[in-house]
Amino acid sequence: MNAVPQTPTWPLGMPPSLPLDRRGRPLRDLRLSVIEACNFRCGYCMPADQVPDDYGLDSASRLSFDEIETLVRGFARIGVNKLRLTGGEPLLRKRLPELIARLSAVPGIEDLALTTNGSLLAGQAEALHRAGLRRLTVSLDALDADLFRQMSGGRGEVSTVMAGIDAATRAGFHSLKINCVVQRGINENQVLPLVEHFRGSGHVLRFIEYMDVGTCNGWQRAQVVTSAELRDRIASRWPILPLDPNYRGEVATRYRFEDGAGEIGFVSSVSETFCGDCHRARVSADGHLYTCLFASEGTDLRGALARGETAFAGHLAGLWSRRVDRYSELRGEREAAKGRHVEMFLIGG
Ligand code: SAM
Ligand code: SF4
Ligand code: SF4
Repeated sequence: MNAVPQTPTWPLGMPPSLPLDRRGRPLRDLRLSVIEACNFRCGYCMPADQVPDDYGLDSASRLSFDEIETLVRGFARIGVNKLRLTGGEPLLRKRLPELIARLSAVPGIEDLALTTNGSLLAGQAEALHRAGLRRLTVSLDALDADLFRQMSGGRGEVSTVMAGIDAATRAGFHSLKINCVVQRGINENQVLPLVEHFRGSGHVLRFIEYMDVGTCNGWQRAQVVTSAELRDRIASRWPILPLDPNYRGEVATRYRFEDGAGEIGFVSSVSETFCGDCHRARVSADGHLYTCLFASEGTDLRGALARGETAFAGHLAGLWSRRVDRYSELRGEREAAKGRHVEMFLIGG
């Protein structure tokens, strides 16, 4: 087997063999979509009136497990140590635990996580944990049953997601991340009830600013509730104190409740920019590389993948070393704001 490059803990330094992009950023973090289909139709991501019900269910171009393993090995060789599986809805991918077992054994991958809407979690949590998955993020935008149903495009029940969270806890997942995208006038009133519910649970609730990803959600800045506003609202009810980041480039800013009831986080992708520390790449289920969440198009990796792990790693290093992306920093400027962006359900957040 080929030697795996040493990956000292960031930010101590990077061995010269690992590529840096044009802005000096290493590649550390891979978000990999395993399926482009989803059983929800959240309005901010995959609106029901824009995306047909059977979208992506029968994709012949989806990467196989063998291709995915080669891909992850290649990424690990050029510096990736964090891998997040996503979608679409990743729990719709058949035999997912088998894939997780293979990926958790890839040398260099120190942190394997998965993001899910939680609708199928109750039935799969145990198998996922047995396969080696240890970190789980569940998306949850409302506790109110009617609002939840409405926000999922009439597809989801909050009770099912809650049962999934309970099943995951019983299966051995500790400290889940619970992600809530807040939209002005839609689920703002769910923020305090969600905080109240998850305070003291051991799980970490994180509020995500509604982003201008994709083109089909009709995003408008007026719909964004900034992290600063949410922080103030929450802090006036339950005082909070800032925490240091867990690692450089962490996307969420962390706070702890003064009374010891745990932690919450805020992802301020619109109101604050963190492109300078962005060492993430994304790959769609059909094997396209996106070096920015807001990229308009991806690079097809399948040809390079077919040449095997070593050649693929070299190809990737070349692609990464040409990266210049910093969309958030440019968002205010007219040339960055217009044009097409890849849809979130294709690259998974
Ligand atoms: N289906 C899974 C889920 O919902 O957790 C995984 C894929 S989903 C695209 C990943 C994350 O992206 C979810 O937490 C979702 O809330 C978030 N997301 C989707 N569209 C978004 C948007 N426009 N702004 C902010 N977050 C968004
Ligand atoms: Fe599906 Fe997740 Fe997008 Fe909602 S956010 S439509 S659950 S992919
Ligand atoms: Fe990274 Fe692009 Fe987001 Fe900037 S806008 S943090 S480069 S994904």
